[in-house]
Amino acid sequence: MDSTDVIIVGGGLNGSALALALGDAGLRVTLVDRLAASVRDSDSFDGRSYALAHGSFRLLKAIGLGPALDGKTQPILGIKVSDGRAGEGASPLHLVFDHAEIEEGPMGWMVEDRHLRQAFLARIDGHPRITQIEGTVTDHAAAGNAASVTLSDGTALHAAMLVAADGVGSPTARRAGITRQGWRYGQTALVCAIEHDQPHGGIAHQFFMPPGPLAILPLPGNRSSIVWTERDAEAARIQALDDAGYLAHLRPRFGSFLGDIALAGARFTYPLELSLARSFTGARLALVGDAAHRVHPIAGQGLNAGLKDVAALAEVLVDARRRGEDIGRADVLDRYQRWRRFDTATLALATDSINRLFSNDNPLVRAARDIGLGVVGALPGLRRGLIREAAGLTGDLPRLLQGRVL
Ligand SMILES: Cc1cc2nc3c(=O)[nH]c(=O)nc-3n(C[C@H](O)[C@H](O)[C@H](O)COP(=O)(O)OP(=O)(O)OC[C@H]3O[C@@H](n4cnc5c(N)ncnc54)[C@H](O)[C@@H]3O)c2cc1C
Repeated sequence: MDSTDVIIVGGGLNGSALALALGDAGLRVTLVDRLAASVRDSDSFDGRSYALAHGSFRLLKAIGLGPALDGKTQPILGIKVSDGRAGEGASPLHLVFDHAEIEEGPMGWMVEDRHLRQAFLARIDGHPRITQIEGTVTDHAAAGNAASVTLSDGTALHAAMLVAADGVGSPTARRAGITRQGWRYGQTALVCAIEHDQPHGGIAHQFFMPPGPLAILPLPGNRSSIVWTERDAEAARIQALDDAGYLAHLRPRFGSFLGDIALAGARFTYPLELSLARSFTGARLALVGDAAHRVHPIAGQGLNAGLKDVAALAEVLVDARRRGEDIGRADVLDRYQRWRRFDTATLALATDSINRLFSNDNPLVRAARDIGLGVVGALPGLRRGLIREAAGLTGDLPRLLQGRVL
């Protein structure tokens, strides 16, 4: 096979987004995934969905996913944060973030996993500069001004550089000798979708419970996505229950404000960990998405952080190509590393600290954080800053996150 500009290992959401950003800007891309596109693209709702920050949604529109997602997303119009205990409900001091406080519009959108994957594949299929290959990458190398990967059937592919978008614990990063820092939280997220009697009004809720947070995120119609964190053993016990037993545990955790609830789709569990690659680059290699970092889902920032990597890397590579530079050279890849690694380490620390502060039943800590919620609620300037942060509208934003073309 001919050499291409970039080989992306992993066709998950981040790998697919990068392929489109680079392909649309004129680079030739080979996207390799061990699973066939038809397996990754499932039509039925399986309960998984994402909270996409305002900036992430701009990127999806910039790479042409807007029409396919039209009418399939739920705008997040507000976020209500409160402290609580199962059976006791939320504390009287809570914090409300309202999108009307910023001029950009909704803070973000909820979108189901299946709609995102279908939108990606519809745009990638037949793209003139993207070649999709079904295969498992077993080795890679960099020598001179080229990089290569080897697939399990012996096929060798060549490019100017490689991108590892191969998810948690990235085998590509490991092979390149990139070590990681992080730890397991001893917490597991129980993830499902529910149908409910009462409308959610576009409001997302975050209840901080001693074992971990419970997020209730609005989906189109009278449905919501649940990300419910428990200690590992308790999560395993709840997940093993039948649907009625599972719901019997879920109901008292958020009370009756949505009326009666029923499960919609499958139930998932995710062990929670912090995992940060010590370097986001290697020889003719860049890491994006979960391959580079895994953070606590407490702020729903996992995929958003990955899409920020995608936007930053695409901008660095496209600008380098326009200047006639070799896109795999260390100084080019360093620009990406400088842009993203510090920002990601800050996010990892912030989610870690929030989790430690809130997953705690110490009465003094509870009192302090309740007062903290009240103080933030009383200061509109601080609140607006936090809303803009949650919406992904702060910091040194890559062009795609500003809604501009590359
Ligand atoms: C409980 C939970 C809730 C979450 N909620 C949110 C949320 O609300 N908002 C949000 O923004 N994020 C959320 N996230 C995070 C989000 O799910 C991930 O960050 C995102 O899906 C990662 O995408 P990725 O493309 O980097 O990796 P992956 O989706 O893991 O994709 C990796 C791909 O690489 C392929 N692959 C791996 N190895 C090889 C190989 N050797 N050869 C070929 N192919 C290979 C795999 O088949 C796979 O398709 C949540 C995460 C959890 C755990």
